[in-house]
Amino acid sequence: MLLSLIVPCYNEEENIVDFYDEVLKQEPSFKKAQVELEILYVNDGSTDHTADRVRELHERDPRVHLVGFSRNFGKEAAIYAGLQKASGDILALLDCDLQDPPSLLPQMLQAIMEEGYDSVATRRVSRKGEPPIRSFFARRFYRLINRMSRTEIVDGARDYRMMTRRFVDAILSLSEINRFSKGIFSWVGFETKWMEYENIERRKGETKWSFWKLFAYAIEGIIGFSTAPLSFASFMGVLFCLLALVFIVFIIVRKLLFGDPTSGWPSLVCIISLVSGVQLFCLGIVGQYLAKTYMEVKNRPIYIVKDEF
Ligand code: UDP
Ligand code: MG
Repeated sequence: MLLSLIVPCYNEEENIVDFYDEVLKQEPSFKKAQVELEILYVNDGSTDHTADRVRELHERDPRVHLVGFSRNFGKEAAIYAGLQKASGDILALLDCDLQDPPSLLPQMLQAIMEEGYDSVATRRVSRKGEPPIRSFFARRFYRLINRMSRTEIVDGARDYRMMTRRFVDAILSLSEINRFSKGIFSWVGFETKWMEYENIERRKGETKWSFWKLFAYAIEGIIGFSTAPLSFASFMGVLFCLLALVFIVFIIVRKLLFGDPTSGWPSLVCIISLVSGVQLFCLGIVGQYLAKTYMEVKNRPIYIVKDEF
């Protein structure tokens, strides 16, 4: 049995070796379970010495490999490339910054090899160490997306996961460009075991996610896994038609009873600006789906490889 660890890295030069050392600490339990190890770093267009660090490791230990992108394609692309390139029978996905503790790997391995699960996922039960505003919006996002989408997206779920080959093949068969892994993992089904742990802060370096990057990622998730916003647009259309009908009746009745005093342009302005706002908003929703469809139809590759060893 071969276990492939897939590690997306973007400017992580100071974490590459730390990560490798942490993983090697688990080696005795891999040996006991009779699994061979392979570490595949996916270099997502880093501008620092990430690739050099991996090359040094590769020279020392031929079980370390690298796939390097021609530019930064994003973590989702790195995950996809890693799953595609790794040859393991069992595959695990972890971050380079040691926020996903490799010490859980033996337990995950046991769940897959002995308990018969196809995937073992992790979720953090706390968000300690995270800016409160980020936690607040994250919570809102999970509530919203779970109301709108039939695919369950677990709050606090991390991308840290161990999977069997058939689970990975199922994931690779979803070849969309707008990849929202949290949704894709859940969409493919199979039996998943959940493990929980306290949030661990990043060992070295800085997070690669700004607030706006996360916001865009949230929109991506909603659009990728729900068409509820489109129904919302239709709903608003119907609502405003009904309102207009009530208004028409009201105006006709008023005209017949009281004549037609020429007043009411302020209310007209309010109504027109409100309705045109709603219209543009709904048009924007349609536009979002159109944009995503446009990107999918172009069928561009998800990533481009620069070097590989
Ligand atoms: N990452 C990546 N490409 C990117 C951004 C991040 O491969 O464009 C990697 C990064 O190197 C790390 C993992 O994804 O191994 C998680 O990123 P980070 O720790 O910055 O996110 P956070 O843990 O703060 O959510
Ligand atoms: Mg991190």
